Amino acid sequence: MAVKNFQHKTEDLRAAQEECAREPVHIPGAVQSFGVLLSFDAAISRVWQVSANVSQHLGLRVDDCLGASAIDIFGKSLLGRIRRGLKGVDRLPGALTVTRKLGGVSRKLHVVAYRSGEAVIVELEPLGGGVRYRWLSLVNDWISRLVETGTESEVMAMLCEAVRAISGYNRALIYAFDENWNGKVVAESRCETLSPLLGQHFPASDIPPQVRAMYGNNRVRVIADARAEPARLVPAMNPANGQPLDLSSGYLRAVSPIHCDYMQNMGVRSSLSVAIYSETRLWGLVSCHSNEVLALSPSARDSVVTLVEVASQRLFLLKAEADAHYRYQIHDNRVELAGGVQERQAPSDLVRQHAEHWRELFTVEGLALAYLGEITLSGTTPGEDQIRALTNWLENHVKGSEPWATTSLAASGYPGAEAIGESCCGLLAMPLLIDMDARGWLLLFRPEQFEMVPWAGKPDKVPEMRDGRTVLSPRTSFATWVEEVSGKSQAWHPAEINAARDLGDDLAVIAAAHEITRLNEYLRREREALAQANKHLEKVANTDALTGTLNRYRIEHLVQMSLANAERYGQPFSLLLFDLDHFKMINDTYGHEVGDRILKALVGALTEGLREGDQLGRWGGEEFLVLAPNTVLSDAGIFAERLRGMVLDAEFGLDEPVTISIGVTEWRAGDTLKNLLVRADRAMYQAKHSGRNRVHLDTH
Ligand code: GH3
Ligand code: MG
Ligand code: MG
Repeated sequence: MAVKNFQHKTEDLRAAQEECAREPVHIPGAVQSFGVLLSFDAAISRVWQVSANVSQHLGLRVDDCLGASAIDIFGKSLLGRIRRGLKGVDRLPGALTVTRKLGGVSRKLHVVAYRSGEAVIVELEPLGGGVRYRWLSLVNDWISRLVETGTESEVMAMLCEAVRAISGYNRALIYAFDENWNGKVVAESRCETLSPLLGQHFPASDIPPQVRAMYGNNRVRVIADARAEPARLVPAMNPANGQPLDLSSGYLRAVSPIHCDYMQNMGVRSSLSVAIYSETRLWGLVSCHSNEVLALSPSARDSVVTLVEVASQRLFLLKAEADAHYRYQIHDNRVELAGGVQERQAPSDLVRQHAEHWRELFTVEGLALAYLGEITLSGTTPGEDQIRALTNWLENHVKGSEPWATTSLAASGYPGAEAIGESCCGLLAMPLLIDMDARGWLLLFRPEQFEMVPWAGKPDKVPEMRDGRTVLSPRTSFATWVEEVSGKSQAWHPAEINAARDLGDDLAVIAAAHEITRLNEYLRREREALAQANKHLEKVANTDALTGTLNRYRIEHLVQMSLANAERYGQPFSLLLFDLDHFKMINDTYGHEVGDRILKALVGALTEGLREGDQLGRWGGEEFLVLAPNTVLSDAGIFAERLRGMVLDAEFGLDEPVTISIGVTEWRAGDTLKNLLVRADRAMYQAKHSGRNRVHLDTH
């Protein structure tokens, strides 16, 4: 950005600014010469100090005044009014006027009085003759126009116009402070020949803190002539305590030489500023300039103060309305979001849906939602990896649930700030508290604020040396502002932070609702998968892996149940135990794999021949058991024959037939599993011994 390389001697400038900030402007030891100042003891009996121009305004010599009695200076009536007015308060409520003869001519004087430490200060200013305004009607006229304005910028423009018309300055402008006390010209009324200052920025150092603080004592400040010689106080220190006199609350305080230089650099001879206070702070200034000497009358000054007061009330009312409007918009947005909760929308979908609106609402260029490892981006944002790194950092640095805002990630200490760059240097981050260990983040990004408004039409002055001092010029002032705000985004307004907090809360609720739905769905799927797995496990647990028929464990269990059934209900059953004949030889001849295939094919062939309720299980090796419920021995024998025949007829692809020998036994009362099996086994071996490929019935 070219403007960053703005040429100025930074060190000289800093020195000038520091000098400004140190200057004890409240105790200049002098007054502006358009009025006269006298200080008294607290009881207002004797003069302590007087400004050197007393003869010019009151026709008295300094020496005659010092130590003189107050009554001799003011006369009984005025003194009485001042004393009564100051009883129990620090300031005379309202100004007084007094007429005095000076050089044989009657002159009207405007009198204010206030306490300053142990002293009472009385300031007198001549009230000019000439054309007399009817101030009240003039002010009323402007007030009635001011209250008809409908927008903030209209109020401010109208106020500038009114102030310039009443005061006669060449230029009236409104200068608003940001939270760092940098100022920006937000409204202006000027005579045509002047170049505009509207939109210009000034660094905080232009109005140092001690000067800002003084507006708290007296809202209005007139500098009648930046070049005029101030009138010193005599003696320089308060004779009662040797201290300088604090002139903060008055109108006459002499101008700091640094400020005089500053004014001259701006081509300004006289100025007026009136503070605008919001409820909480010094919000801005109405500032008037003239390139000529302008002795603003106290009445004009008071009128301006009244107008500023009325206009600021209108301004803050309109601001409150704008804030309320903003809150309504946020509210509408929340109502809309509530629909998202109902519909169990995914937060990422919602963000995509509303992103553009939110970017507008929060005046941000980009936003990101980082939640459960998923990142949703909209507008100008850092990349996904950068967002991940940023949220990791936020996790460690931002505790609790409050939004976290910065106008400069770099200044806030984020190590990845440089990589993220200027396009996203401002961040408003809302932690979304979804549950104890899952925090999501809604991140709003603002770019570096940059309104390139160069100082229009002014000479390109660098900090210059005058009387061995570096003085500020408007040009360097602007450059300083550029330097102060570079790398920073526009500030985050409290209303925006509040709105973001609401939005974050809503998103967290939506995310939680969505998360519950997601978990439920997950659980449902898990349950299904578990049921499947159980089914599978059950099958695995009951099935013989090679042949797919029941395994030994399962068939034994079924025989046990049949035994129990038979005992209880007398239901008969038979067992058929069979073994392949010469299987070892088949294995040896054709190989083990062929043997396996025969076993599978055998089960396949037999399964078809089983009756409903019959159970076939692999007993081990090439031995199988058939449980035939409700079957007596003779029927079991027929059944066994059928099975034997089926095997004999089945095609196994070998040169010789595959045969089985079957032992058959039926249940007898009092049988145990062991008994039954021993008998079946014995019968089977009988079949083998009788020549194989046959059935042997266990008939006692
Ligand atoms: P017999 O007619 O007397 O029953 O003769 P046999 O050869 O079948 O008897 P033996 O008990 O001596 O041999 C059984 C053979 O069955 C031994 C074993 O290698 C084989 N065998 C047992 N289980 C399996 C198996 O799962 N697959 C294969 N391929 N062979 C098996
Ligand atoms: Mg065997
Ligand atoms: Mg065998």
